[in-house]
Amino acid sequence: MEDNYRHKGMRKKLVDEIRKKGILDEQILEAINAVPRHLFMDSSFLQFAYEDKPFPIGSGQTISQPYTVAFQTQLLDVKPGAKILEIGTGSGYQACVLAEMGAEVYSIERQKKLYEKTKKFLSKFQYKLHLFCGDGYLGLPKHAPFDGILITAAAPEIPQTLVDQMKVGGVLVIPLGGTSTQTMYRMVKMEDGSLAKEAFGEFRFVPLLKDISND
Ligand code: SAH
Repeated sequence: MEDNYRHKGMRKKLVDEIRKKGILDEQILEAINAVPRHLFMDSSFLQFAYEDKPFPIGSGQTISQPYTVAFQTQLLDVKPGAKILEIGTGSGYQACVLAEMGAEVYSIERQKKLYEKTKKFLSKFQYKLHLFCGDGYLGLPKHAPFDGILITAAAPEIPQTLVDQMKVGGVLVIPLGGTSTQTMYRMVKMEDGSLAKEAFGEFRFVPLLKDISND
């Protein structure tokens, strides 16, 4: 769990790069600066940890590109104490960035092996995260309602079950579309349960899957 001056220097450069790409929220930049991304991947890949790129983390999954993590976090508009549900824990990096910003994070991962690996790894940090293995499409009705829901995989449709678990005024951040590229949306839940939608450009995510076989 080493985080030395070299890692910190690389991280500062990454933060500068993300700022240049248009992320101006200092709290988000500070969170990226605080979370040691290199620890979320194998130590032999150190040179890739602080490049602004996604990276494979095993089980056919990826740790999201830092810019994408920052961008989705910005759309969520996280306030300290906000209750956030993340779908797709993956490496746990995004969850830690949200926790670093003071959010109360609930996160679901469907792949059992990855869930177990990530849960074990994240226990080394001081963040209080609520991690679950299961189908993100179902959300966490017992813990609802949420101030924000963040989907970190490509969703072919808007999961109504998750919308039902949002507070009025709550925000859903969702990359919506097919397997090649998706459009990033920020959707705010209105009094009548409908969603006010705003689109934010194209991104590429691994698919949000429905079945929960142990691959
Ligand atoms: N947020 C992650 C990156 C996620 S990659 C990070 O910070 O590293 C997308 C993740 O979504 C993968 O781990 C994939 O297994 C998971 N996933 C796909 N479909 C899912 C579903 N229905 N429910 C929960 N997780 C799902």
